[in-house]
Amino acid sequence: MDDCLFCKIGEKKIPSKLVYEDADVFAFEDISPQAPSHVLICPRKHVVSLTDATAEDAAMLGKLQLVAAKLAVKRQLTAGYRTVVNNGRGAGQSVFHLHLHLLGGLDLRWPPG
Ligand code: AMP
Ligand code: ZN
Repeated sequence: MDDCLFCKIGEKKIPSKLVYEDADVFAFEDISPQAPSHVLICPRKHVVSLTDATAEDAAMLGKLQLVAAKLAVKRQLTAGYRTVVNNGRGAGQSVFHLHLHLLGGLDLRWPPG
């Protein structure tokens, strides 16, 4: 996708604080962190939202979570962490390239707002 912020970050056309990358997935620091540790984990494939994912994206969706778990260990989020997908504007999605938020380093309340 030519006009997608996260595609451009994945292609390094827009700078970011990259914390992980492989052939399928890349992860970078959120520019406006909502927790002491706030990373976004994205597929290289441009998928607009979770709703737009298909059966062929199953492995990619699982990988986003596994990369989150790996990063949580690396970042020593031993007290706990949360992975979140905001799906659709009503849930707070503002960038329409699928991404998993990894949040940690503070007391995360439940239920979320
Ligand atoms: P969401 O609201 O779930 O779509 O999440 C989008 C996230 O992208 C927000 O938490 C933003 O702070 C973050 N964000 C927007 N632009 C950038 C950027 N250039 N670099 C890093 N994070 C960004
Ligand atoms: Zn994209």
